[in-house]
Amino acid sequence: VPRLTLPKLKILLCAPRGFCAGVDRAIQIVDLALARYGAPVYVRHEIVHNKYVVEELRAKGAVFVEELDEIPATDQPVIFSAHGVPRSVPAAAAARNLFQLDATCPLVTKVHREAEIHHKKGRHVILIGHAGHPEVIGTMGQLPEGSVTLIETVDDVGKLDFPAGTVLSYTSQTTLSVDDTRMIVEALSLRYPDIVPPHKSDICYATTNRQAAVRAVAPQVDAMLVVGAPNSSNSQRLREVAAREGCARAFLIQRASDLDWDALDGIATLGITAGASAPEVLVEEIIDAFATRYEVTVETVRTAEETIAFTLPRPLRDITDHGA
Ligand code: SF4
Repeated sequence: VPRLTLPKLKILLCAPRGFCAGVDRAIQIVDLALARYGAPVYVRHEIVHNKYVVEELRAKGAVFVEELDEIPATDQPVIFSAHGVPRSVPAAAAARNLFQLDATCPLVTKVHREAEIHHKKGRHVILIGHAGHPEVIGTMGQLPEGSVTLIETVDDVGKLDFPAGTVLSYTSQTTLSVDDTRMIVEALSLRYPDIVPPHKSDICYATTNRQAAVRAVAPQVDAMLVVGAPNSSNSQRLREVAAREGCARAFLIQRASDLDWDALDGIATLGITAGASAPEVLVEEIIDAFATRYEVTVETVRTAEETIAFTLPRPLRDITDHGA
């Protein structure tokens, strides 16, 4: 029987892609807590915005809740997600004597501390971010109500209205579009020349690097797939970056089963990246799906090396020290 010849497809894999140090740490915290304290381990909000990760941890005994009041009286650990939480959350957990483990990414905590310092110095904080995202809720919730104004777009800058003499500062969500944020910051600085900036952009290294890799690959491909969840901010931004770089067919998908083969008809080159909360196994699953329909060659396009790693919360540190 003659073998069917498959069309050729060159896949360019963006690197860096996928898990960042903050996501890696957050998942490790849940895993280590399960190993040390047994199930159940409670997790407030999706530990990271990825269904696959959440389901895997759920199968091991993690119980996901949206709010602390869903958790019964317990000695078992309660873990806060990588996105960070408003101050009211650890306070409520302490009032109930819950055993808290904080999986907030240290780079989000850094933004929290910056906001706090601005506030202490008498500056009103403008937060650039997406309304409703848990990280934004967490950062706003570091300061008393009314101390932070959220803006999402350049247009929002024009709508700001502060009493004369207000000293301003700004900070941002860690997972924004580098380009959009630059424009918002320019508009802010134009309108408020004395506004106090962060020491260094609050957009994290992982967001920046993943967007740069997509910018390098997008002009070379017929289509770009971003592996990630619809509620993952950094994944959404990667899709936008690809589209903006002229890649007309840029899709955000969670699994191989989401692939819209009709929309990908006729492609000869394909870029693939993954959001910071998407595990590599999902990228592999998608490449495997293409390999059933195409003669696939895979090439990695690396635009940065990443070596950053974060330390674990104290109660879990000795577990890894002893190799357990
Ligand atoms: Fe931390 Fe950046 Fe990863 Fe968010 S995307 S968890 S801020 S490293």
